[in-house]
Amino acid sequence: MIRTQPEPAADARRILVVEDSRTFSLALRKLLEAETGLPVTCCDSLRELSALIVAAPGAYTIAVVDLNLPDAPRGEALDWTVTHGIPSIVFTATFDLATRGRIMEREVIDYVLKDNEFALPTVVSTVRRALDNRNTRILVVDDTRTTRKVLARMLLIQQYAVVEAGSGQEALQLLDRNPDIQLVVSDYYMPDMDGFELARRIRRRHPEVRVIGISSSTDRQTSAGFLKAGAHDFVSRPFVLEELQCRIASNVETLTQLRQLQDLAARDYLTGLYNRRHFFERGRRLLGEARELGLPVSVAILDIDHFKRLNDRHGHDGGDKALAAVARSLSGLAARGFNLLARVGGEEFAILFPGADLAEAKRHCEEIREGIARETLTLGDETLSLTVSLGVAEIARGDELDACLGHADGALYAAKQNGRNRVHTHAA
Ligand code: GH3
Ligand code: MG
Ligand code: MG
Repeated sequence: MIRTQPEPAADARRILVVEDSRTFSLALRKLLEAETGLPVTCCDSLRELSALIVAAPGAYTIAVVDLNLPDAPRGEALDWTVTHGIPSIVFTATFDLATRGRIMEREVIDYVLKDNEFALPTVVSTVRRALDNRNTRILVVDDTRTTRKVLARMLLIQQYAVVEAGSGQEALQLLDRNPDIQLVVSDYYMPDMDGFELARRIRRRHPEVRVIGISSSTDRQTSAGFLKAGAHDFVSRPFVLEELQCRIASNVETLTQLRQLQDLAARDYLTGLYNRRHFFERGRRLLGEARELGLPVSVAILDIDHFKRLNDRHGHDGGDKALAAVARSLSGLAARGFNLLARVGGEEFAILFPGADLAEAKRHCEEIREGIARETLTLGDETLSLTVSLGVAEIARGDELDACLGHADGALYAAKQNGRNRVHTHAA
């Protein structure tokens, strides 16, 4: 297995803007700082640029470089940033095919033309995309080392995190071991397993991973074959850089949108906590994993005391605010190890404690109860505090999560009966 990673200096945090138009550089600084949260350093000449790089060679995580400066009219500034290992984006007014060829030879991330009103936002989104790409891990699969290296290099320049495999088997092993691989770009012909078979297996074993097949431009059957095997897209060889960029970017964007949708579906709108459905889905998985390791698991139900009174006094909106505040406190109080917290009903919350037996879960529940009782909340001009009651049960071997939640609910009922603001356990 060969791993290659872009290596901007670990502490490189600044964005460098090399631009002699003051209007452009001021606007870029403002937009880039707002969009990325990173500090921006501007300079307007090659002289100043070289002084900056000599003074702090590892300070810059990315550069936006004008090709034409008064003391550097032919892209000499770009040579400086590129040879000093600063990933660079070209921002230029002068442009023709020969320039494009010269620029792309120099391994820049991308170029943006100054010829239209969208130029500045385009620079900003290009910087943004390049920084985001560092969090996207792509697996390149090709049995021919040289062609694999060419593609890996192109992706590295685009700032992607790249992993390489020389065969289908190796690719599958890497996917099993690296759950953060989001996208696979695979060649068709490989001796152990062809690209179609690899695409089919990836779709079965890792349905969340996107697959892009590579087909040689003369062979339309290959691209059709990839799509039929379940690949999401294909790129033709020889690669056209912009096509490769766009196809990868659109697949990554789809993945991001899917994740956002999944996250939305797993969360409760009012509190932002996980919802009941997610609690059961993820809870069952955590329970299974803990059992495989022979670890105990406990579960608790928490219910706010006299919440109806609060609603009556402060209205439904006040009640909502109180619920959101309790949820915020709970997030801090319940977070530990693999604990799973969710809002499972109106003012009811559930917590799964993987690895905790009944005694340990009860101790943690007492801390949570005390923590909530200590908090104060301001509604209108009134400052008040809330208490909660909890029921806890340890999940016995062979018991299902639903049944145990029922046991915890029974204990909660007892806690309410006995005066509230307390933790009761379910006796097995
Ligand atoms: P107890 O101490 O026995 O739990 O008393 P309680 O008043 O909390 O009683 P109960 O649990 O039966 O009532 C919960 C109330 O919570 C009823 C409902 O109006 C209110 N509630 C449920 N969901 C929401 C919500 O999303 N927002 C608001 N504001 N109120 C909610
Ligand atoms: Mg209640
Ligand atoms: Mg209730």
